[in-house]
Amino acid sequence: MASKSNREHTFNGTAVSRGIAFGPIHVVARGFAAPDVYPIKEENIPAEQARFDLAIAKTKEQLSQLQDHIEGIAGSDDEGLVFEAHSLVLEDPGLLRKVSKAIEERKQNAEFCFYAVMQTFLEAMRRVADSYLRERAVDIDDVCQRVLRNFKADDGAIGPDHQHLLVTYDLSPSDTASMDRAKLLGFVTEAGSINSHTAILARALGIPAIVGLGGAVLETTALAPAIIDGYSGKLIVNPSEETTARYQKLAAERQSARKALEALRDKESTTTDGHHITLSANIEFTHELDTVRENRAEGVGLFRTEFFLLESSNHPNEEAQTKVYRELALGTKPHQGIIRTLDSGGDKLGVEAFSEPEPNPFLGWRGIRVSLDRQAMFKEQLRAILRASSEGKLGMMFPFISGLSEIKACRKLVSECMGELDAEGHAYDADLEIGAMIEIPSAVLVADEIAKEVDFFSIGTNDLIQYTVAVDRINHRVAKLYRSSHPAVIRLIKMTTDASKRAGIWTGVCGEMATDLHMTPLLVGLGVDELSVGPHDLAPVRKALLSLDFGECQEMAARALTLATSREVFDCTKAMAQEAYPDLLEGLDAV
Ligand code: PEP
Ligand code: MG
Repeated sequence: MASKSNREHTFNGTAVSRGIAFGPIHVVARGFAAPDVYPIKEENIPAEQARFDLAIAKTKEQLSQLQDHIEGIAGSDDEGLVFEAHSLVLEDPGLLRKVSKAIEERKQNAEFCFYAVMQTFLEAMRRVADSYLRERAVDIDDVCQRVLRNFKADDGAIGPDHQHLLVTYDLSPSDTASMDRAKLLGFVTEAGSINSHTAILARALGIPAIVGLGGAVLETTALAPAIIDGYSGKLIVNPSEETTARYQKLAAERQSARKALEALRDKESTTTDGHHITLSANIEFTHELDTVRENRAEGVGLFRTEFFLLESSNHPNEEAQTKVYRELALGTKPHQGIIRTLDSGGDKLGVEAFSEPEPNPFLGWRGIRVSLDRQAMFKEQLRAILRASSEGKLGMMFPFISGLSEIKACRKLVSECMGELDAEGHAYDADLEIGAMIEIPSAVLVADEIAKEVDFFSIGTNDLIQYTVAVDRINHRVAKLYRSSHPAVIRLIKMTTDASKRAGIWTGVCGEMATDLHMTPLLVGLGVDELSVGPHDLAPVRKALLSLDFGECQEMAARALTLATSREVFDCTKAMAQEAYPDLLEGLDAV
């Protein structure tokens, strides 16, 4: 294992967020860090034992509260049983004895002894053939993390208190969102894929990141110097002086290329033959609005509200939400800020955060299904959006629409909220644009009907691809099948733009495909009116649009629509991109 020595060693994965970062490694195994280990004196063994007892007692107390809370919401005892099972783990006398014995014999701090005992147990569980038992490892893992947190006074941000490159098995979107940007220079994960929300957040935060680096956790050592190359997907551990110098040069070149792109930021995103495409930004937090403005986006095309709604410990009420949406309205002026209503579920947090995991979360209780089932919560968000719309130009759109009745139900609730606000004397913009996200194939097939109910479509290609080709967007095993250039996907996009044109409404693309510079000529040619991309991607996409000819894109798209394979479609659009802006494509991973 070269990297455990001091020799240079390179791991290859999939680049998901561009940039180059240098720094010492911080390793986090299986989602949570090993606690610090330190020796204890013989006379302090009882005190350590007491710390352990306290952490267990605190955890049991929390689990029982969670159980009550969930049973209260669900109105039955069944939903809370998972926490009772979690509690039972903590009552296992064999386990408790093992930890006490470890404290006594190893004379090490209690949290480390607990961690060490649990790791052995968990590894054994993960290896058993019985899939039911294997799945229970996830529950044990969860309890283990909870106990470890309870040893500490605070359970704040992930990571050590120095600047570092994080090497970990996997990250959840909430882990990514709560990382301390000042300390985290970049991250790599063993699992994950380019279209996961974790990767999307990394791009939004401008953190270089790589996923799918098998073996990285086991084979790297904490504090080893390393380089993350978020262009080609390489993690280089213990880089030689020569490698470091090469990367420093590359980083400086990228920096100046970036500066050159920024010089174009005041130019309208219009093709060489005068066709304007609205170039707007995707954000997850309003603090990103500074970057959005610096890069002169024409507004926000997608504000993903689930991160701020679900990640705070108290669900923000109508007032708190109105304040955030007002920030958006004021921050995007004179352009439009489009708020997507809560899209919980899938790989993001659920509304009822502690409920049992769903067997197929991406086909489950997600997006608009949750909002329509929890109308009080949904109306709170709708009212907040409407109230904030009196301060600037806001729009709203609904995620995970699968057919006409959902969009009608949404509109009915919006009208109801408008009526309430009228009665209460609150101002709002009665003409705010209302849109449907097109991210499920069934919605495309009934797009003509949906179009009658909305002012715009926003194509969520991240999901549209996964549901069309039946490829889980976060499963790296099938990542090679996840193709935005799949002929079925591009035909669905064309059906959507055609339906919107028939209805006289506009269509945007807010999925990651809008950021893929190889795909820009094709999307333009397929007739999309808006591209909404991460704030750090506005500059390259603007340059791409400025370099393309709309007429040629249309001809190329017509040709692409006749092709039978993803590779042929990809080659077709890539050839045009290569011709128009070869400099932008340098160093980008080809499909
Ligand atoms: C999409 O599906 O393309 C999209 C923009 O929404 P999200 O990535 O949040 O699912
Ligand atoms: Mg989506």
